[in-house]
Amino acid sequence: MTRGIGLLRALLERSILRRLVLGIAAVHAVMMTVFVGDLVLRQQAFLAADTADRGMGLARMMAVNSVSWVLADDIKGLSEVIGSIRNYPNVLYAMVVDHNGHVLGHTDSLKVGLYVTDGLSRSLLTGHTEARWTVDSPVMMEAAAPVVFDGRLIGWARVAMDRRHQVSSLRGVWRDGILYTMGAILVGTGVALWMARRLTRDLRRLADSADRLRNGERDIPRLPFLPMEIATLESAFMTMAETIWRREDELKRSVALLKSSNADLEQFAYVASHDLQTPLREMTSYAQLLKRRYQGHLDSDADEFIGFIVQGGKRMTCLIRDLLDYARISSQGQPLAPVPAERALTVALGSLRLMLDGARAEVVADGLPEVLADETQLASLFQNLIQNAVKYRHSERPPRITISATRESAEMWRISVADNGGGIEPQYFDKIFVIFQRLQSDRDADGTGIGLALCQRIVRRFGGAIWVESELGKGSTFHFTIRAATPPSPA
Ligand code: ADP
Repeated sequence: MTRGIGLLRALLERSILRRLVLGIAAVHAVMMTVFVGDLVLRQQAFLAADTADRGMGLARMMAVNSVSWVLADDIKGLSEVIGSIRNYPNVLYAMVVDHNGHVLGHTDSLKVGLYVTDGLSRSLLTGHTEARWTVDSPVMMEAAAPVVFDGRLIGWARVAMDRRHQVSSLRGVWRDGILYTMGAILVGTGVALWMARRLTRDLRRLADSADRLRNGERDIPRLPFLPMEIATLESAFMTMAETIWRREDELKRSVALLKSSNADLEQFAYVASHDLQTPLREMTSYAQLLKRRYQGHLDSDADEFIGFIVQGGKRMTCLIRDLLDYARISSQGQPLAPVPAERALTVALGSLRLMLDGARAEVVADGLPEVLADETQLASLFQNLIQNAVKYRHSERPPRITISATRESAEMWRISVADNGGGIEPQYFDKIFVIFQRLQSDRDADGTGIGLALCQRIVRRFGGAIWVESELGKGSTFHFTIRAATPPSPA
């Protein structure tokens, strides 16, 4: 039962067309059944009353016409009275009996002269003298009217009416009613189908327009001849589409502007840092020459100043090299391709071998996946993070660096580089990724403040994000997300 209701609900919930058709068919079926039922009941009542009226009328008429013949005991005369009754439709039989139950007249002449002995007739003879119904069954009715002379009961006139014709007449009403009901359901269903088709056709046209909008088309025509309600929906849809197009245009303009200013900036950074290299190289070479030739020949202040120039030159060389690397991330990156992260890590560790050995650093890497990346840039990302882990190590323990991976989502991996270094205070978690931002406490360590900005730029190019979790004195973990080269296995 509940399964049936569930099925019906599922059938109705999925389509307006089905709802309309089934709804209208059901309404027609119920209304027509009620109507036909009512009609049959009325017809039944009418036929019953009609038969009763006619039966009783005939009995009374027969009683009046029989008085003189009963008084005279004239069977022949009575047979004429009864003969006239025989011609009335649906008369089963008619008879006249005297007060002793002697049949004086009967439509069946064989019964004339007999005595009625059944209980019903006997009770009639001994009961009160008013006209009444003696039999009232679905197939027949019998009316009995007293034959009275001078206030004295001298006999009974009885007429039986056949009711079977009523049954067939009612059957006919039922049959016609069912035919009309089916016709009404058919016509109603047809009209509902037509209405639902029109309605759903307009909705489908609207859905087509939505599809075209989704596919980026701009040439979406207005739909003609829509009913008012759907026209309101369509005009809301068109307003929405226009808003989307306007925003899309604005966005495109902003993106183009951003792209060109980004490209300008990259070009500027690249040209500036590239062109700065030559004069800087000259300056540092001559400063080093000065230092080699004249150290000890001038006073101690001069030696110190020459030392500052050499140091500043070296630092500036590092800055320019890092800046160039930073500027090249987008312009000189390779297209992203599946890369085993393990291989990029091996390259990074190879470049850092001396530094790692010098610091007695321990690096543990486990189960690194294949990711979508530019291998050189991924190696550079690992290199920067591991280098920082060593550079900002805890003064009292050798660095221990763990590199691990977890599945972040269907498309992304999360790779984490955890160290046991000095840690970072939470208020600097975002700041350290900004270019040239260094922490006051680390001013002594070598660095330009570009490393993490570079990491962020690489990760963003790969379509991921980078962030840090850290506890001061315990260590830091740098996490970055990166696109997986393959979708996850079902396991
Ligand atoms: P740089 O190392 O050249 O100073 P980075 O951008 O690589 O520049 O780092 C920015 C700052 O973030 C560093 O100055 C340092 O204070 C902090 N930092 C980076 N990595 C770590 C780390 N693993 N542990 C502690 N501090 C770190």
